[in-house]
Amino acid sequence: MFHRIGIILGVFLGLLAASCGRNYEIFQTTRPLMGTAVGMAVVSQDARRAYAALDAAFDEMARLEAMMSVFRKDSELNRLNEEASRHPVTVSEELFQVIELSLHISQITHGAFDITVGPLMNLWPFYKNEKTLPSSEALQEVLSRVGYRHLVVSSKDRSVFFAISGMALDLGGIAKGFAIDRAVRVLKGYGMAAALVNAGGDIFAYGSKPDGQPWRVGLQHPRDSKQLLAVLTMSDMAMVTSGDYERYFLVDGERYSHIIDPRSGFSARETASVTVMAESAAYADGLATGIMVLGAEAGMPLVESLPGVHALIITEGSKKALELHVSKGFPLLLDEASLAAQGVQLKALER
Ligand code: AMP
Ligand code: MG
Repeated sequence: MFHRIGIILGVFLGLLAASCGRNYEIFQTTRPLMGTAVGMAVVSQDARRAYAALDAAFDEMARLEAMMSVFRKDSELNRLNEEASRHPVTVSEELFQVIELSLHISQITHGAFDITVGPLMNLWPFYKNEKTLPSSEALQEVLSRVGYRHLVVSSKDRSVFFAISGMALDLGGIAKGFAIDRAVRVLKGYGMAAALVNAGGDIFAYGSKPDGQPWRVGLQHPRDSKQLLAVLTMSDMAMVTSGDYERYFLVDGERYSHIIDPRSGFSARETASVTVMAESAAYADGLATGIMVLGAEAGMPLVESLPGVHALIITEGSKKALELHVSKGFPLLLDEASLAAQGVQLKALER
């Protein structure tokens, strides 16, 4: 779905050889899916079982992509978008779950996260080759068809209805996270002792490596894809990053990122990147996108108010210097000297 070099995974295979006493090993596969490279690693004693689990988990992600992508003409999402202005449409359990979770995230982010951005995504040239800015008339017209409050859902029959004709859903801000969660569920179902699913830097990890160590991941520098900003450890949680460097275009030197403030219709400008940790990747995914819009000032108090949610928000200060805002529980293994050498300033580190 999107291109994201994102966070670079650091699975330290070297440590494995020494610790295979119990014969647990890491098995891994990478496949292109959801517009990115999806890598999965599992810890198992049985190679055949491990590869069967990996296959099934990839199949599950592919199935969900075919269901929820706006880029697939025949996706269930596109069918919903075509019909739901006319009458309530009953959707699959998975699609309904994603829509319900999205509405919840819209409420807690006060509309910063909003899957009804579909018409705005179509207006801005993210999905087109020609990069011209929309006129303010076009923007106003399209904004009248955006707003999660106009999305009518009923859990009785799992139906979805657009109260305003011409609305359209775009699940680009949450579907990948949901698919990661479902892949993890499949791997657990196959009895995998530990696993890490990495969809272009959006990650869920559970259990530990065969040497007993937690999974370690590197956080990419938002302005230099070759640099790691920090390393962190993860266990039994999701970590998802949204960034203005993932998909954007430049007009007159201005950066227009693919994350849109649904209230103004313009690109979110507040934030360079947001990394959220939470117990589910879908929740972390939606929150990360929403906090890109909210910015650090409104976003950090929200994060601190949500149990089990931690975040690292990176903003661009004066002279384009990066500022890091870290929530209390974010498990960042900081090398402050190297951060300083990169010109990064650490803010609000109260731990
Ligand atoms: P992510 O990379 O998870 O931050 O998702 C970005 C994608 O989410 C965009 O490419 C759009 O498909 C969609 N999107 C953009 N703005 C918003 C928003 N304010 N709320 C929800 N989804 C959005
Ligand atoms: Mg997201």
